Amino acid sequence: MKVLVINCGSSSLKYQVFNMAEEEVLAKGEVERIGGKNSKLKHKKINLEKGEEGLGEVLVEEEINNHKEAIKVVVDNLVDINYGVINDLSEIYAVGHRVVHGGEEFSDAVIIDDEVLKALDKCKELAPLHNPPNIAGIEAAGEIFKNSVQVGVFDTAFHQAMDEKSYLYGLPYELYQKYGIRKYGFHGTSHKYVSEKASKIMKKPVEELKLISCHLGNGASIAAIDKGKSVDTSMGFTPLEGLVMGTRTGDLDPAIVPFLIEKEKMDTNDINDLLNKKSGVLGLSGISNDFRDLEKAAIEGNYRAKVALDVFVYRVVKFIGSYIMVLGGVDGLIFTAGVGENSPNVRQKIADYLTFAEVKIDGEKNKIKGETKDISAPDSSCRVLVIPTNEELMIARETKRLCD
Ligand code: AMP
Repeated sequence: MKVLVINCGSSSLKYQVFNMAEEEVLAKGEVERIGGKNSKLKHKKINLEKGEEGLGEVLVEEEINNHKEAIKVVVDNLVDINYGVINDLSEIYAVGHRVVHGGEEFSDAVIIDDEVLKALDKCKELAPLHNPPNIAGIEAAGEIFKNSVQVGVFDTAFHQAMDEKSYLYGLPYELYQKYGIRKYGFHGTSHKYVSEKASKIMKKPVEELKLISCHLGNGASIAAIDKGKSVDTSMGFTPLEGLVMGTRTGDLDPAIVPFLIEKEKMDTNDINDLLNKKSGVLGLSGISNDFRDLEKAAIEGNYRAKVALDVFVYRVVKFIGSYIMVLGGVDGLIFTAGVGENSPNVRQKIADYLTFAEVKIDGEKNKIKGETKDISAPDSSCRVLVIPTNEELMIARETKRLCD
């Protein structure tokens, strides 16, 4: 069975074609600047023997006005005699779409029909920047892949297992009822993927494991996973809550917002911009949101870069500590995403705080970047694992599961 995975942003479309029998990627690519001038498609056919090195790569530069046109250009390349991986569209049994917000409506992936599209429309309000392009992609793919099953896979679905005490804020209950203001959590596809992989590595079913999954990338979140279900997570109503991130504040005293509105004469846009784009380790360091730049600057003695890294690590540690209590212990601590997979330095700094809980990593094993590895010290109370995330594969798996 071949599955096409699509991830639509407001001006971009990323895709991968999977052969699900072997779970191998046949082709992947990205359309950039949809709706603008100089749109561009980078399409890669994977050479299965040579892996990424043997890519047949095509660059298409033409005006691509909307997501439907984007999918058409992608399809042209998927069936191309030299760079294609299918003979015709009917070979794509199903299309799996990443959808950021499923609200309370969707606690699992879903086969898309008219009813689902209506329900998705209702969730738009909760993610006004992300859901509309996701829906545009679903509608466009539906028109082009007329005979393929369309499946929606939600970033929020995995966290729908949380109960009220985790997801309710200390706001009047009526606001939850009226607007759905509650914690939803994000990165669910990634947390689910790495927790399933951890269970394989640990040779124990997820139902017997207490896991803490640290998705540390430019956007970052932590999930407490008990018996394969998310019981708490650091992101909230939006992906702004929780950890200090690349450019996002994470948790802060809400009274800071009215204070800034008054002092700096800020409006809603200014505030959103400040909290989402100008804060986090970028705002703290004044240098970069890229941890490679920060680590370099910190080594060179830059005070603000060092403080930014310290604040980031400290916040991660506080969440890990609270989730150990919430779970009543931990069997596996997982590091994933750009920073979690690639920064031995950040992992070591986090581990340095965890010795009280006897969670220990092996300095030598921790030297790896971007590979799956058990980095626990022999006397660690729990396994510490680095697991590269693969949200596309998880979306493909969920899509296949619903089609089986
Ligand atoms: P993501 O959002 O998961 O793509 O992660 C992006 C982040 O990963 C960026 O902020 C990068 O700084 C970080 N990253 C990637 N490679 C490394 C590395 N070798 N060391 C530290 N951070 C890295």
